[in-house]
Amino acid sequence: MRQKLVIGNWKMHGSLAANAALLDGIKAAPARARLAVCAPFPYLAQCQATLAGTAIGWGAQDVSTEVRGAFTGEVAAPMLAEFGCAYVLVGHSERRSYHGETDATVATKALRALESGLTPVVCVGETLAQREAGETEAVVGRQLAAVVEALSIDQLGKIVLAYEPVWAIGTGKTATSEQAQAVHAYLRGQLASGSAAASADVAARMPILYGGSVKPDNAAELFSMSDIDGGLIGGASLKAEDFLAIGNA
Ligand code: PEP
Repeated sequence: MRQKLVIGNWKMHGSLAANAALLDGIKAAPARARLAVCAPFPYLAQCQATLAGTAIGWGAQDVSTEVRGAFTGEVAAPMLAEFGCAYVLVGHSERRSYHGETDATVATKALRALESGLTPVVCVGETLAQREAGETEAVVGRQLAAVVEALSIDQLGKIVLAYEPVWAIGTGKTATSEQAQAVHAYLRGQLASGSAAASADVAARMPILYGGSVKPDNAAELFSMSDIDGGLIGGASLKAEDFLAIGNA
């Protein structure tokens, strides 16, 4: 039985004062799912100070492909580990589209995260044009295969996968639970039987989160699907009440 996991992606939002209120609100009530927040780098110390000793995890939204050196502006996985991060997002569609991250870059980032004891949350998803061209499975399958090929079975057993259709991120358009379930089932099937197949056991245990305009009023239906193990939440993770409602959905 896979435990439900709900991760907030704050994106480039927040301030010390706003985060303090948000984190206090999240801490104040229990949630049925495991919760975590992925904050901008400067606020990781605040997350660590506020959330250490609670059941709520925290993490970053990106990590360097490099471990150290002359890479101005980059943040390495061992640095994230020093701030107690449990998770790091890799391959979010905003990184892929605005920063030109390739499937290979994303796979290397996942590997760097694992080497530092972090759980990479590997994001995959198709654009609207790709969906309309019937390419959804080919696109997410290719994005997943790059990661599967870069990791050992043991490492693969430690990642979290997030299906985030690009057309549903921040748009208010959510995939229907049936649309999302179909892609999640495809991804799990690929893990078990694709060209660089993981073991059936890794596929069965892997948490696969759905992300894309998840809100308190649609979370329960999405999370009731057999291959949807929780959510990656953008906008709705910035309000404690909404984030908790999703964590209890
Ligand atoms: C995201 O940024 O990962 C996301 C899913 O955003 P939103 O929930 O706002 O669509």
